[in-house]
Amino acid sequence: MTLGQPQERTRAAGECRQCRATCDKLIEPAGCLAIGCRFLYTYEDAITGGRFMGCVNKVFGGEINVDLFLLAEAGRGSYGGIKMTGRPLPQCQFTVERAYEGDGPEYECINRSFFDMAHEHSESIRAFDLRNALT
Ligand code: SF4
Ligand code: SF4
Repeated sequence: MTLGQPQERTRAAGECRQCRATCDKLIEPAGCLAIGCRFLYTYEDAITGGRFMGCVNKVFGGEINVDLFLLAEAGRGSYGGIKMTGRPLPQCQFTVERAYEGDGPEYECINRSFFDMAHEHSESIRAFDLRNALT
């Protein structure tokens, strides 16, 4: 089990399976850009010329093709969300996607805090503690 533990921790960051609705958090890369997050990186591939962006903290995994992203944003208005695979910071904007709808207690949410922003990350103090602005 030791080898599997890091992967399980990562997967758990953006997933809730506490009822049959099965929810996933999706990071909105447009939100990363909008706030100018310092953890968003971009680079140009020297060989292909393709431009990519990603999250230094790996809150979402993989990299996004910048040109496809801009095309989607200009076209249908939104690139959409990418599955959250790492521990979010307070500024990470996300939506929650519910996979299944159904009646009965098996589909009733018992984990409301899953929809809340992250407040327990070390970055939270930097983002929200008023004392930082007063010193
Ligand atoms: S830390 Fe959050 S807001 Fe910043 S780039 Fe990563 S996912 Fe986006
Ligand atoms: S509805 Fe609530 S309890 Fe059920 S999977 Fe989603 S977040 Fe978890």
